[in-house]
Amino acid sequence: MAINSVGVVGAGQMGNGIAHVFALAGYDVLISDISQDALDNAVTLIDKNLERQASRGKISEDDRKAAMGRIKTTLNLADLGQTDLIIEAATERETVKQAIFEDLLPHLKPNTILTSNTSSISITRLASRTDRPEKFMGFHFMNPVPVMQLVELIRGIATDDETYQTLLDVVERIGKTAASAEDFPAFIVNRILMPMINEAVYTLYEGVGNVQSIDSAMKLGTNHPMGPLELADFIGLDTCLAIMNVLHEGLADTKYRPCPLLTKYVEAGWLGRKTGRGFYDYRGETPVPTR
Ligand code: NAD
Repeated sequence: MAINSVGVVGAGQMGNGIAHVFALAGYDVLISDISQDALDNAVTLIDKNLERQASRGKISEDDRKAAMGRIKTTLNLADLGQTDLIIEAATERETVKQAIFEDLLPHLKPNTILTSNTSSISITRLASRTDRPEKFMGFHFMNPVPVMQLVELIRGIATDDETYQTLLDVVERIGKTAASAEDFPAFIVNRILMPMINEAVYTLYEGVGNVQSIDSAMKLGTNHPMGPLELADFIGLDTCLAIMNVLHEGLADTKYRPCPLLTKYVEAGWLGRKTGRGFYDYRGETPVPTR
């Protein structure tokens, strides 16, 4: 199936990155959000990030201009109905995602493929509540999308081969690499990554180390480019907690219980970089550990 236009739902850190790479690859992109501020910020950020790529010689000035020209925004979700491929990248909450698909369904073309960038929620369950489970897939990008090479492709139980093949082709056109995962809680990347981040928070909670020693230990001791707490702040602590809850509930194993300290940060609204404070305080010149 030919894909020419893409509708991105959610203009947060993932939505804007996804819009960026699709526009650069030549797709027409329409982004929708419930917040006009989020839409405006996304366009500003994409412009800035494309400009940085152009100044480093990674893309031409013409590519940058053409990509910006392909991006449009709307507060009206129904406008996305005319696109060939929907990528839902709204907040990691099943009720939010379910309501988005419900609202979208009456406006879609019969062949439009539906995907979710969810980090952990069951693709089969999300798909089963739509009119096209065979045309529904998990399309999991990594953060920051313009930089990270991997895309996880997750088939629901009903996803057909044509849909899977179409998405494989899309991944190739945007210049990324696909890894296929089965539809079980948190798929591959987050099944492995999130318990590590959660364990780092337990290590902090139990006083084994402080923020700085834990991050230094993992960076210098295991050659990770970012420490786990720095990475958690980058991902968003609300998203990390939501994924741990999905693992805990979905696999019914106490080893996935979210650390109470992670819950406390989320309850405080200290969600990491996106709110200015998490395991580090980002409001000054340089990040300062909060514990
Ligand atoms: P975010 O908080 O930065 O952005 C979420 C956006 O969704 C916000 O702009 C919000 O206004 C919007 N939104 C909420 N409800 C909406 C609705 N009903 N309709 C339209 N927009 C709505 O979150 P994010 O980090 O961009 O995460 C988005 C999705 O991507 C989540 O499913 C998350 O699990 C997944 N994801 C995140 C990462 C990461 O590192 N942050 C990586 C891979 C996948």
